[in-house]
Amino acid sequence: MGKQAMVTLSFDDGREDTYRVAFKIMKEYGLVGTINVTTGWVDGSWSVTNWPSAVDGAMTIEQVKECFNYGFEIASHGDTHITEVNDLRACLIKLRGWGVIDPDYPGFASPYSELTAQNLAKTAPIFMENNIKYVRTGHSHKCKRWPMRILFILQWLTGSSLLFQTFFKHNSILLPMNQPFMLPASEIKRSHSANQVIRLLQRSISSKSWNILMLHSILESKDKGYGQDVWYWDADEFRQLCQWLSKQDKQDIAVVTTKVGLKNLLENWEESRDVVNRSVGSRYASKRCGALF
Ligand SMILES: [Zn+2]
Repeated sequence: MGKQAMVTLSFDDGREDTYRVAFKIMKEYGLVGTINVTTGWVDGSWSVTNWPSAVDGAMTIEQVKECFNYGFEIASHGDTHITEVNDLRACLIKLRGWGVIDPDYPGFASPYSELTAQNLAKTAPIFMENNIKYVRTGHSHKCKRWPMRILFILQWLTGSSLLFQTFFKHNSILLPMNQPFMLPASEIKRSHSANQVIRLLQRSISSKSWNILMLHSILESKDKGYGQDVWYWDADEFRQLCQWLSKQDKQDIAVVTTKVGLKNLLENWEESRDVVNRSVGSRYASKRCGALF
């Protein structure tokens, strides 16, 4: 893979509809993605009561295995949906036991996107101890400043593609990255349209950047969770995006798992890798942090 734009479809929690709806659609179009699994939810040792769009519950372990065997990446999302060292360890032990995680390249998606650049120094040891190679978080730090928050609300209210891009382009990943192992993602939620996302990706093709789309439920309008909260995306919008992706030239934009995206970025940007390593080293003044790669 040379230098090219990339996009990752990253699903959180291990929701039942990720298998039933999203995986089925993606198979039709020959696409793969990453599922960030909350292991305690999947094996039934932990439960949620306040995720209305996830009313149908979690995937089964067998379904997680099927997605992995098909080519999806399975990453950790905590055993009980928190960011804590023992919880993450428990999650990784289960994922290894199920044979669904690359032991050499485990990733972590931060539950509730609670990880920020500010608290990274405090939480970095949790990831180093568990050999975590990357942490996928929510919006980039830049998006949390108040002018961006206003734009976010406006794009939400108006459905404008221009405002959507203005806001979400800050989540596009280009080297040198500020936080090389913290990967920002764009949350795609209920009110978004496939066209908004496609425009963002068209922009990404020109800049050869990498966009990670953070998705939760993908629901058909007849599903029980549909319309219950903002943490789902309409299956028809999702289908439209997948269809568009399947028609793109692979040389222009590649659909990759988070792991492959990060490896590709680092391998193909030799001249930037030094910059990445330097910035990790200087920012945290820690050789161990640099060893995250
Ligand atoms: Zn989650």
